Amino acid sequence: MECTYCDSDLARYEPVFVEETDDGERLEAGGFCNYACLSAHIDEAALTDDDACEWRPDG
Ligand SMILES: [Zn+2]
Repeated sequence: MECTYCDSDLARYEPVFVEETDDGERLEAGGFCNYACLSAHIDEAALTDDDACEWRPDG
């Protein structure tokens, strides 16, 4: 298996695996060689944009 972000071979690292839930079902969202790659992937994919937990003064 390879890192979702940088395509490195995960066997050479202590990989971080991510899962998402969809209607209570767990889906594999990717594997990363470390938290730096996970963080970079999040930034690149803009996964935190338009997040529901964003504070909105208008409600
Ligand atoms: Zn990586």
